[in-house]
Amino acid sequence: MTASFSNLSLAEPLARAVAEMGYESMTPIQAQAIPVVLTGKDVMGAAQTGTGKTAAFSLPLLQRLLKHENSSTSPARHPVRALVLLPTRELADQVAQQIKLYAKYTQMRSAVVFGGMDMKPQTLELKKGVEILVATPGRLLDHIEAKNAVLNQVEYVVLDEADRMLDIGFLPDLQRILSFLPKQRTTLLFSATFSPEIKRLANSYLQDPITIEVARPNETASTVEQRFYAAQDEDKRRVVKAVLNQRDIKQAFIFVNSKLGCGRLARSLEREGLKTAALHGDKSQDERLKALEAFKKGEVDLLVCTDVAARGLDIKDVPAVFNFDVPFNAEDYVHRIGRTGRAGASGLAVTLVSPSDMRLVADIEKLIKNKLDVEAFPLDSEGSRNHLGDGRRDERRAEGRGERRDERRPERGFERRREEEGDRRSSFRPPQVSRDPFFEKPYEAEASSLAQTAPASWEATAKSVAARPGLSANIKPKRKVAALFKSGG
Ligand code: AMP
Repeated sequence: MTASFSNLSLAEPLARAVAEMGYESMTPIQAQAIPVVLTGKDVMGAAQTGTGKTAAFSLPLLQRLLKHENSSTSPARHPVRALVLLPTRELADQVAQQIKLYAKYTQMRSAVVFGGMDMKPQTLELKKGVEILVATPGRLLDHIEAKNAVLNQVEYVVLDEADRMLDIGFLPDLQRILSFLPKQRTTLLFSATFSPEIKRLANSYLQDPITIEVARPNETASTVEQRFYAAQDEDKRRVVKAVLNQRDIKQAFIFVNSKLGCGRLARSLEREGLKTAALHGDKSQDERLKALEAFKKGEVDLLVCTDVAARGLDIKDVPAVFNFDVPFNAEDYVHRIGRTGRAGASGLAVTLVSPSDMRLVADIEKLIKNKLDVEAFPLDSEGSRNHLGDGRRDERRAEGRGERRDERRPERGFERRREEEGDRRSSFRPPQVSRDPFFEKPYEAEASSLAQTAPASWEATAKSVAARPGLSANIKPKRKVAALFKSGG
């Protein structure tokens, strides 16, 4: 049964904005959350980006705040009434843009503040008065300290992507921010997963919350075929190429654990003739947009990215996701593979497991409550050990070690936090236009990138990769894990 927005009795300006967005029916999180938020109750929602959760909290929140709507030019008449906190600048920007669209026929003002850009324009906007403030925690604290943001009239606070905020190390910042808010308020917490830490956060800051789950927490979509292949570091690129060829996959995300490894892997794949772009936190906003646009247009086949950079971008439903590195955090696994197999489409998630990764695989097993088989992936005898010179192999080994150091938490939590949010040292510059339609469109593969007539770049190198004679893509050769690595050499 699909629920319609018309059943909600939304105020006319909001209903008009929704109609203009072209939404026909509510998504499951909207159908469940909107009526609850309209009652003013606290909500603990399990929903990922891409489920329509921004509208799920912002529409009812706007509706409840409409009573304060006014056209006065006095800043005092426009205090912050709703605060939306997000972990990354991209996500903050996206959510702020969506809220602006939903509020466009009202007189409610909204603004976004995040790190990595000059505080002055943000300060000017804040001083004029805004009812809805979207922010990343670090930058918001800067504004609070500078007395640019006063939060004593906040009625609603939304902790969006709460798991990610904790993951990055924002808990102390969140606690400080929440201490500035009135006790009497509605708190909405959204998280892709309900880890024990999230439950603790909810216990501390939510009052009798209504729990809403659109999918079981930590559940991975059943439409995603998950494969774990044993691979030594030096063989991983060849396994990726072989899988792409065997499955006839035209585009994929490749996740790595570090910015350093991200750039290096993208360059290696590019050198091998694959159309590749890198997406990580050290890239400027402009470079990121270009890389994403090229991927959407099918000009780039492989997008190598870190969790930090990929998180929060409205790109989904890629045919395949590779975990070139097993994520350090099992919850990142759920986020990563959630990029594929959306909306009933089938997707493939391949995780490359080196001998030292078994503990991380066990963590994933525990989280998703599924036994995972690490399979052998037969490469031809001309394996990658001979594919590149020994010196290069050593360099890759060093890369592998570097990756593990680079974004490891919690020691690196601060750097991760700054990477996510953007700080003054960052080269990040926000887009000049306030609306970037690129982030508003869910990713859809270009017809040209999927067409048989437009072979992916790896197809040209297909001959150099051994096929698996007679082995169907769906046959899983099972072997004991230790044996897999022995045979892999
Ligand atoms: P979100 O999960 O909030 O990031 O939303 C993901 C995408 O879904 C955005 O591009 C929204 O514009 C879009 N969206 C949100 N609600 C609906 C709806 N009811 N029908 C169709 N698209 C929607």
